[in-house]
Amino acid sequence: KFISFEGPDGAGKTSVLQQIEHDLEAELGANQVLYTREPGGNPISEQIRQLLFNPANTEMDGRTEALLFAAARRQHIVSEIVPALKADKVILCDRYVDSSIAYQGAGRQLGEEAVWQMNQFAIDGLLPQLTIYLDIESALGLRRIAEHRADQVNRLDKEQLSFHRTVRQAYLRLYHQYPERIKLIDASQPLAKVIADVRQTIHARYPD
Ligand code: C5P
Ligand code: MG
Repeated sequence: KFISFEGPDGAGKTSVLQQIEHDLEAELGANQVLYTREPGGNPISEQIRQLLFNPANTEMDGRTEALLFAAARRQHIVSEIVPALKADKVILCDRYVDSSIAYQGAGRQLGEEAVWQMNQFAIDGLLPQLTIYLDIESALGLRRIAEHRADQVNRLDKEQLSFHRTVRQAYLRLYHQYPERIKLIDASQPLAKVIADVRQTIHARYPD
């Protein structure tokens, strides 16, 4: 069971995922659940993550950025996702290919189709069965970040409102394009309600 979690900055992805992971581990046993995040999750992808997020790398080209995200994704699939699928675990993946379409394809204006094609080589057909998209209006998302995470700024966390609007519009396009895979949850609701909606969406997709 491969589930990815997506959303613009400030949607509350991290808080939601922590609770869902906790609940599923209580329900299924800790060794039946894998929480993992992109880019990262294994030593090679974590090193790529350092390159991507290092505030000193101000001159990084957009295509370089997209290729590095895809490279980290590839290694993450091989090192983490595939072994967990073979062990029949529930995989909770914090970001996956939709993030690249939205952030690099739309946000960095590399082209959503181009970034999608380039990522096909990395994912080699492996898509989640379910993608939970936490939707948040961009100004509200940015306000939440300013309130809660002023200390955690990395190279990619410095974008303006217009960038975040572009990213959200791309996510909404993906949601309309892949209604079977991608389920939208209104992340402007109180956290407990968002978590309840996520839980219900997971159970609807995997009734047993
Ligand atoms: O998942 P998380 O919110 O921690 O992502 C860290 C940062 O990386 C965010 O600022 C996000 O906007 C950025 N990011 C990106 N392109 C991706 C994935 C994440 O710019 N493909
Ligand atoms: Mg973030």
